[in-house]
Amino acid sequence: MTLYSHAFQRIGTENAFKIASHISRIEQQGHYVLKLNLGEPDFDLPKFISEEIKRQLDLGNTHYCDPQGLLALREVIAWELNMTRGIEVSPDQVVVFPGAKPAIAFAQQAYLNKGDEVIYPSPGYPIYESLIEMMDAIPRPLHLREDDGLGISAEQIEELICPATKLIFLNFPSNPTGAMATEQELEEIAQVVLQKSNPECRVFSDEIYSDIVFDGRRHHSIASVPGMRRRTIVVSGFSKSFAWTGGRLGYAAFPTAEEAQSFKNLNINYFSCVPPFLQMAGATALNSPHRHAAIRQMVESFQGRRDDIIPALNSIPGVRCISPLGAFYAFPNIGEAIKDLGVLDAFKSLSKCESEDTSPAGLFQMFALYHHQVAVLDRRSFGRIGSDGQHYIRLSMAASQENLREGIRRLREALKDRDGFRSFVREGRQLCRG
Ligand code: PLP
Repeated sequence: MTLYSHAFQRIGTENAFKIASHISRIEQQGHYVLKLNLGEPDFDLPKFISEEIKRQLDLGNTHYCDPQGLLALREVIAWELNMTRGIEVSPDQVVVFPGAKPAIAFAQQAYLNKGDEVIYPSPGYPIYESLIEMMDAIPRPLHLREDDGLGISAEQIEELICPATKLIFLNFPSNPTGAMATEQELEEIAQVVLQKSNPECRVFSDEIYSDIVFDGRRHHSIASVPGMRRRTIVVSGFSKSFAWTGGRLGYAAFPTAEEAQSFKNLNINYFSCVPPFLQMAGATALNSPHRHAAIRQMVESFQGRRDDIIPALNSIPGVRCISPLGAFYAFPNIGEAIKDLGVLDAFKSLSKCESEDTSPAGLFQMFALYHHQVAVLDRRSFGRIGSDGQHYIRLSMAASQENLREGIRRLREALKDRDGFRSFVREGRQLCRG
């Protein structure tokens, strides 16, 4: 008998959170770590939202409430999706969750049987892959290609889709690549889904970064393509748009009210309801006349940082980086640079146990953290399966311009610090994330 269930032993994780203990350790030794690992906007919660949270608390709005989400919030969400995606959504198709993240696990629990197949972008948000094997379902990573701008094409979906496909995760703008899809690309993907998949197959369209798009682009949703509304779960939330990651407020709009009821029942089973004072503040966030200015200001900052750091990254020998179109991450290919640093050879000499939990870029990630005090994440943190030989790191642009510049300066130093890397490997203490 084992302590943990077999299913539980197959769960993955999100390294963006796991790396925090390493950072604290270095900080406790008196070093200043440049944290370019975090997926959370470095802005304050807008005042018009924090004021509303306080007001709701003073009103005593602190009790259990509708497990599906307060009607007042679901109405605004339905209206919002209608206005921005041009899709018919009624409040009874909407469910509110503590963040967008639980919708990912719940969708897997609700829709997947043993042997069902799940298509998801890789690199992609790690929680998609993390849970698939726990559900006894089959992961079908869709490997993004740099020569396609790290986007997703209909042909790639077509290669993977089959009658056993039950869930397809899409995420535009993407974490970690910043890629977006045009209306035409989404139409082409939709045609493949409609023609090749089982009618019960669902597209999980993770649109959490839909407000963070650059150069005047517009976000498009696959749910807006004719025929796709009845196949798509549109997921978004308040964490990124309002720099409100600690609010834990997200939502999904389901193809049918019946599916929404099933997810409401999952809410009942797991946490009863989302705090009502936060939900009311969420409704205010979407309704407020100050909303667009607050988001615009944040997006302009991200865009300015992007324009500054992408050329800086591309000027490092052996590094090349596509310019992100949205979200707030840079995802440079560091393959040539880490080869010169000796990382590929060092990786080959690791024991099986050591190499199992990391990658060459992961080895560099730990070296950059412990020897140069800059925190980034490796490619493998965004999908393990089939990631061998792909040498990327993710930098979050959720840091001041000054810190980003200093972070890139430290990465540049780290990438040419052969002696430092050799002694890091010789010490052998922090090779893996643990
Ligand atoms: N989806 C993607 C693509 C994300 O990057 C994140 C957070 O980083 C989430 C979902 C989860 O968001 P939340 O904080 O609302 O749970």
